[in-house]
Amino acid sequence: MEDNILLLANCFHIATFNDSMDELKGQDILIEGNRIKEIGEGIELSTEEINGAEIIDCSSYLVIPGMINTHHHLFQNLTRNLPSVQNVKLFDWLTHLYPIWVNIDGEAIYYSTLLGCGELLKTGATTTTDHHYLYPESFKGDLMEIQFEAALELGIRFSPSRGSMTMGRKEGGLPPREVTQSTEEVIEDSMRVINKFHDPRPLSMRRITLAPCSPFSVGRDLMIKIAELARAHSLPLHTHLAETLDEEKYCLERFKKRPLELMEELNWLGEDVYFAHGIQFNDAELDLLSRTKTAISHCPSSNMRLGSGIARVREMLDRGIIVGLGVDGSASNDSSDMLGEARNAMLLQRVKYGPKGLSAREALSLAIKGGAEILNFPELGSIEEGKGADLALFNLKDIQYAGGLSDPLATIVFAGYNHETVYTIVNGKIVVREGKLVNLCEEEIVENVNRISADLTKRH
Ligand SMILES: [Zn+2]
Repeated sequence: MEDNILLLANCFHIATFNDSMDELKGQDILIEGNRIKEIGEGIELSTEEINGAEIIDCSSYLVIPGMINTHHHLFQNLTRNLPSVQNVKLFDWLTHLYPIWVNIDGEAIYYSTLLGCGELLKTGATTTTDHHYLYPESFKGDLMEIQFEAALELGIRFSPSRGSMTMGRKEGGLPPREVTQSTEEVIEDSMRVINKFHDPRPLSMRRITLAPCSPFSVGRDLMIKIAELARAHSLPLHTHLAETLDEEKYCLERFKKRPLELMEELNWLGEDVYFAHGIQFNDAELDLLSRTKTAISHCPSSNMRLGSGIARVREMLDRGIIVGLGVDGSASNDSSDMLGEARNAMLLQRVKYGPKGLSAREALSLAIKGGAEILNFPELGSIEEGKGADLALFNLKDIQYAGGLSDPLATIVFAGYNHETVYTIVNGKIVVREGKLVNLCEEEIVENVNRISADLTKRH
């Protein structure tokens, strides 16, 4: 098969996010296969290349590296904006939603994955993880196979985690028993999905992460065994941590330790570990994260929505801690709007630290470079010759950016209201064209998600 050739011609503005954060005007980007072949002015295609090449006039477009979403629960798309939990905090929100989520099936998994990944692609993300921790007793299918099928149909780069919950209420956990599994079941299935799906090669479209749900839903033995398994395969390790004061209280009562102390005891610190949220850390804990190179997935919309608090991202960055961005599950955001998440990250840090809290470029860097580091994709995260061709293009001549072009990069964070790309390119292929998903019918996804959601939530 011949490599596809794509020429992004005469780009209005390119933000490379390379080490010196160069920004370029009026340059072309030549993509061959799944990599960026050349960046320069007036690139000419040979007669051979021009046959079958696609040339896009980018004279109105800003081009940035595709953003990388580091935290999500795609199944939650089916229960977003539920009136009964619009105004409650995390533990009440979870205990209300578990009995609804018990009824998810293969079709629900498929369409919620399509919806969340579709929204991510349309708002500038090109790679995403998913943290699926809910395995109802009644569901016997291959959940991850369904997710990979949906993600790859859309064309997003997918690095989901095998999540898990092992402690039901009887064991002192928060979830009902029907959505928990035994430690042995989780380990066995984690090994299965690694063998079946994980592709460690550069620019792979399929990667696996391991992610027990949280200190209040899994046992210590599982945490230890999962860390050993992940390290044997060089996979990232992930869990929720230090999200709420309720969690801190739970850990102090049950384990006589603060959440991060517990992680340290379980050998859950290091450059292969990243925690979602990380709001309730004290100074010594931030120092420990920095020393051990443990990373954080910051989820500002979810943190504001559930009133969980403000993560100390400014202080984390000043300590050299790697921070990525996550939209979090759509029941607590309630959308998969990646550019919107960067905007909220910038704004929320300013509530805590003032206008120097986080710049637009820093907010986008979390979403781009932070994500690439956390999910271990060194060949993504910048626009440079030889790097992966994952790009997000925004139309700066659109009404929402008018008057804001004195800084063509920051305008997409400061201004703008729908956060949609005009083109999204993943692995050298166009997956959003003129603002629409290329590979699937958006109306069909919407119709099916609404039908399944209505059915799941009708009794609640
Ligand atoms: Zn989460």
